[in-house]
Amino acid sequence: MRNFKIRPHHGLCIRFFEGKGYSSDFTRNMVEIIVMLNREDPVIQLHTDTDIICRSCPGNINERCKSFTKVLSYDNAVLDFCRLKNGQQIKWSEFSRAVHTKIIMKNKRESICSDCQWNEICAKKLPEL
Ligand code: SF4
Repeated sequence: MRNFKIRPHHGLCIRFFEGKGYSSDFTRNMVEIIVMLNREDPVIQLHTDTDIICRSCPGNINERCKSFTKVLSYDNAVLDFCRLKNGQQIKWSEFSRAVHTKIIMKNKRESICSDCQWNEICAKKLPEL
């Protein structure tokens, strides 16, 4: 079975994504990944480093995020709230549900990533979710 590495905080980015991103390549790749995850519901591997979303990001410099420390803190916070571990394998739908119920529905999202440049989008969308 194929599995896909996903940074834990990308579970949040995916829930709030509305077609904006760091570049057109990034956005195209993000859309393709979201469609694939929702269609195939694969087993993913939680991975606190560059992943299948980062691969098209201009902030990915030689497989290292230029905001490494900041995004690692987001990843670790998502893992803590969801009671999951780095390296753990889990069905995409199960992970996505954990992000929704244990972070978004409990209004914990801003405690994780309110200093992200995309925060305004997520804050605006929250009431719709
Ligand atoms: S490289 Fe960094 S900024 Fe780019 S998608 Fe990955 S975590 Fe986000």
